[in-house]
Amino acid sequence: MDERLPWHARRWRQLQESLAAGRLPHALLLTGPSGLGKLVFARRLARALLCERPDAEGDACGRCRSCRLFQAGSHPDYSALRPAEDGKVIRVDQVRELRDFLGLTAQYGGYKIAVLEPADRLNVNAANSLLKTLEEPPGGSLLLLVTAQPARLPVTVRSRCQGVRFEPPPPTDAIPWLASRVAAGPEPRTLLDVAGGAPLAALAYVDGERWNRRRQLVERYEQVLIGRLDPVRAAEDWLQGDLAENLRWLIGWHIDLIRLKMSSEPPCLSNPDLRPVLRRWAEWRPPRALFGRLDAAIRLHVLCATTQVNAQLLLEAFLGDGVESDESRVSRTRFTEG
Ligand SMILES: [Zn+2]
Repeated sequence: MDERLPWHARRWRQLQESLAAGRLPHALLLTGPSGLGKLVFARRLARALLCERPDAEGDACGRCRSCRLFQAGSHPDYSALRPAEDGKVIRVDQVRELRDFLGLTAQYGGYKIAVLEPADRLNVNAANSLLKTLEEPPGGSLLLLVTAQPARLPVTVRSRCQGVRFEPPPPTDAIPWLASRVAAGPEPRTLLDVAGGAPLAALAYVDGERWNRRRQLVERYEQVLIGRLDPVRAAEDWLQGDLAENLRWLIGWHIDLIRLKMSSEPPCLSNPDLRPVLRRWAEWRPPRALFGRLDAAIRLHVLCATTQVNAQLLLEAFLGDGVESDESRVSRTRFTEG
């Protein structure tokens, strides 16, 4: 992918100005929702700072020795730190190795750069160890911490980094970018809405797999709601794939359900393609119950984002609470109609 994403332009220029003025700090904290390319930006910056002949915009040339090493993943002055396994923590011994790496003299005489992603996965000891590096950064070192959930980092760590905040771009910027990459399938506008305005998340739907997965979860969820699918079986299904994303969808549906409850023709939905289904679900519940379900879905998302919880049990409880018997649904429909 071209790493010069159009919605990064302003942030890029600001950092280049800091660099030109000799004010680039030792640590940056890149924050903002998933799917905006924060890691792409961090790597772009690292590659550019290591490049021997950056171009007029400050980007890497792509041809020098440093750029070739970077592309091969073997630049000796660059280190990328992430959890050893997906969903696990970044451990203290990993941070110690990082400190040793940053403490060495740069082999190519320029910066030594490390990217930590997702930085919110630092455990307590690892964060404390990192703090020492942030308090006394080795000369010529640059730390790039990337996270969608900065609140989970200790304040002591956050306060020693300069924040670089990313926001979803206006649709007028994101839709043309997306449209030039989407040949078939759902409309770019729909993809972008479902992805909460995050263009890379929207692009990830284009291969169809995640998009189909979402449709499948919609069908399964309806079966649970009408009592045709056992919540235990359904919970197993929800655990497949990216649980955090599955739960974000669930939250998005409930926000739309409330919008539909408040107005028969809400001007915007986060899931415009699901309007008929969501309209049906909205009729099955009074507004108060929908707010309760939204709260429960958000709690579920927060709990599952922390380690050490039994997500299966939490999901079973959530899905089990959603089941409504045919009789109560019919009587409630009558009640609301009457
Ligand atoms: Zn280069």
